[in-house]
Amino acid sequence: MSDPSRDDPSQDRQTAPSARGPWPRWPSPAPEALENLRLVLDSGRWTISGPYAGGPSMEQRFGEAFAAYHGVPHCVPTASGTASLLIAFEALGIRPGDEVLIPGLTWVACATAVANLGAVPVLVDVEPDTLCIAPDAIEKAITPATRAILAVHLYSAVADLGRLRDIAERHGLELIEDCAQAHGAVWEGRRVGTVGRLGVFSMQQGKVLTCGEGGAVLTREPELYRRLQQLRADGRVLAPQAPAIGDMELLETGEVTGSNRCLSELHAAVLLAQLSQLEEQNRHRRRNARRLDELLRQVGWHPQTSSAGTTARTYYRYVAAFDEEELDGAGDQTGDRIAEALSGRLGFRVMRTYLPLNRSPLYRPSTRTRYHIDASFLRRLDPSRFALPECDRAWRRCLTLPHSVLLAEPERMEQIAQAFDEVRSQRARWI
Ligand SMILES: *Cc1c(COP(=O)(O)O)cnc(C)c1O
Repeated sequence: MSDPSRDDPSQDRQTAPSARGPWPRWPSPAPEALENLRLVLDSGRWTISGPYAGGPSMEQRFGEAFAAYHGVPHCVPTASGTASLLIAFEALGIRPGDEVLIPGLTWVACATAVANLGAVPVLVDVEPDTLCIAPDAIEKAITPATRAILAVHLYSAVADLGRLRDIAERHGLELIEDCAQAHGAVWEGRRVGTVGRLGVFSMQQGKVLTCGEGGAVLTREPELYRRLQQLRADGRVLAPQAPAIGDMELLETGEVTGSNRCLSELHAAVLLAQLSQLEEQNRHRRRNARRLDELLRQVGWHPQTSSAGTTARTYYRYVAAFDEEELDGAGDQTGDRIAEALSGRLGFRVMRTYLPLNRSPLYRPSTRTRYHIDASFLRRLDPSRFALPECDRAWRRCLTLPHSVLLAEPERMEQIAQAFDEVRSQRARWI
């Protein structure tokens, strides 16, 4: 990487960020995290597959708290968002050869989770303003092999759940919500993750609710809950009554053969503590984001919007786009140079969006031997067969900020807007 100060003329330094102090750090441990960890360390039970030690496990306590926060009866904590996607698709009976519609602009795990089941991720274009999967494009992508739609609530937007639910119903498809970037967002008065049949979460370090690595799946349906539990704990479910101390709390049912995708007790202990901060942090980020929306619109930027029906947004990354016309003559690297110029001015890392999955270096199915089932499967996986013009446009126009900066004092939104204004007015330097 080149030095970000390289092309900064000296006058830029007058507005250098260092004078205004550091940005909030992420992750930030909740006060009870340490005490919860100590309880687990001393308990003799570091995972739910260890012997019962008296009292509910941290995993169970977190699962109940997370379900209650969403107003649904069931939550299955898992080791990661990826594990959650896998057991969600499997619990719904997605089979090898089935097609799952996913957005072309998202983290690579959405595609690989589908492919790892022997199913086919079909890359669908996104809406220009929300950057979430486009209902019109979904209608065109449906084939007799389509089984499910994965709605990803991307960055700070809620996907168009009304239309997605309608399409899913009309075509007999499953609707799964990927809420890895939207813990606590609300659509038409309901928390995201409770509108689709299953809601999937990641608690990896970058996410707004985190324990380093972790995940969860929400559902209202007792049968799905039972299947999900077995898929994540080698065919075992939690006993309806606590066993004697020293006995196993997981019962070997074996109705569905699973794998070990359990969240450890240490991780659950941290997650339970972090959950108590989520609402307040979401409110703080939302207030600052609204202010930043106003400031950036005043200086010619286009902040990401959320779909109609959104009651409360959350911010995993804050996104703003250049006017298309202002990028006349821009090449594929222009966005990198502008992101670098902004990072240098602001003192945190500004990034572009994800590369569209049809040209992401992280998603090249032919490099993985497990996908070499036969030539026709590889051809169906081939990401280059999908056209994603709106994903490409987002990649050209958008810059994204980490959610941690939205936890700063409100005045610092002006510092961010000022840097965006400078960079926009001097864009010729980077095009
Ligand atoms: C982070 C993320 C995942 C994967 O979660 P992991 O915990 O990293 O496995 C899946 N989908 C989306 C949209 C994500 O942002």
